Amino acid sequence: MQHIEAFREIIATPKKIVITTHFKPDADALGSSLGLAGYLKKKGHQVQVITPSDYPKFLFWMSGNEEVINYEDAKNQKKAQQLIQAADLIFCLDFSAIARIESMSSVVALSKATKVMIDHHTNPEQFATFVYHDVKAAATAQLIYQLIVLLGDKHLIDQAIGECLYAGIMTDTGSFRHPNTTPEVHRIAAEIMELGVNTNLVHRRVYDSTTADRLSFLGYILSEKMVVLPEYRVAYFVVTAEELKRFNSQTGDTEGIVNYGLQIDGTVMSVIIVDRPEAIKMSFRSVEEFAVNTIASKYFNGGGHKNAAGGKTVGLGLEATVARFLSILPEYQSELLAVPI
Ligand code: 5GP
Ligand code: MN
Repeated sequence: MQHIEAFREIIATPKKIVITTHFKPDADALGSSLGLAGYLKKKGHQVQVITPSDYPKFLFWMSGNEEVINYEDAKNQKKAQQLIQAADLIFCLDFSAIARIESMSSVVALSKATKVMIDHHTNPEQFATFVYHDVKAAATAQLIYQLIVLLGDKHLIDQAIGECLYAGIMTDTGSFRHPNTTPEVHRIAAEIMELGVNTNLVHRRVYDSTTADRLSFLGYILSEKMVVLPEYRVAYFVVTAEELKRFNSQTGDTEGIVNYGLQIDGTVMSVIIVDRPEAIKMSFRSVEEFAVNTIASKYFNGGGHKNAAGGKTVGLGLEATVARFLSILPEYQSELLAVPI
């Protein structure tokens, strides 16, 4: 982290702290937030985690979950705004483009609080005084772990904090199989295990806690909605609003489906396009050097990492979004075919 000594001095005395993370938090976003919150509370700070939206039920087990404020809850919004305005420090975790906190963006940007950004996404914006940004970090949870160690407080990382951070590292590395899985990632995971964290339980809580509806939905999407384009080495899925409703889809239910496209031998890029109430949401996944974050940012108002990115269109409609996606494939065909598999 830049200016670590100045940062250390600021957090040496009790502060009013808000921690926030990106819209529709995933395990890294929420795990980083609650892991950091647990640590800062131990240091005597007043800490509130505020998320810009709801998040999947399979994250509710995390310690501190019951105290999280969802900014979208009308009954909480005023209180959330007051906390943001009155905060001494606002931590922005797992995002580095202010628009990723959606309707919270302006109130956070306008707050006089000192901002601290901790993130591993590409192309960070400059809105924070303190920045701990590393695109090579596998997860923001890894950066939180490293920051606590840097501050000399490793002994304060307990099982509850460790579980939250482990969940973030586990999911953002695809259970320790993506190329971002470094020896350091394994070392941190090992240290967390040594705290007594039941990592098997963390894995089951996140991955083996689905509903029958969600499995039926997955089966339907894989059998009826998968399109494979071998000439481009691309697989994609389009999910309509009607289908989300028919399968009683909940927040998080489409997460991970995009990865199935990459299981097909020879596939370089997989994409899912989902017609959500707020936007047409897209998730991109790729292998090797083929970068999907550049496609997401160039054509779909998004971004992310080289091999995992997201984007959206607003007001364009599902059909036109799919058409836009298909129309850009020829531009990438030679690059897609050149990837060694
Ligand atoms: P997912 O497909 O799981 O939603 O997101 C994949 C990766 O891309 C995550 O690291 C996520 O934070 C990032 N991402 C998803 N949507 C967006 C977006 O709209 N803008 C940016 N900049 N990144 C995104
Ligand atoms: Mn992350």
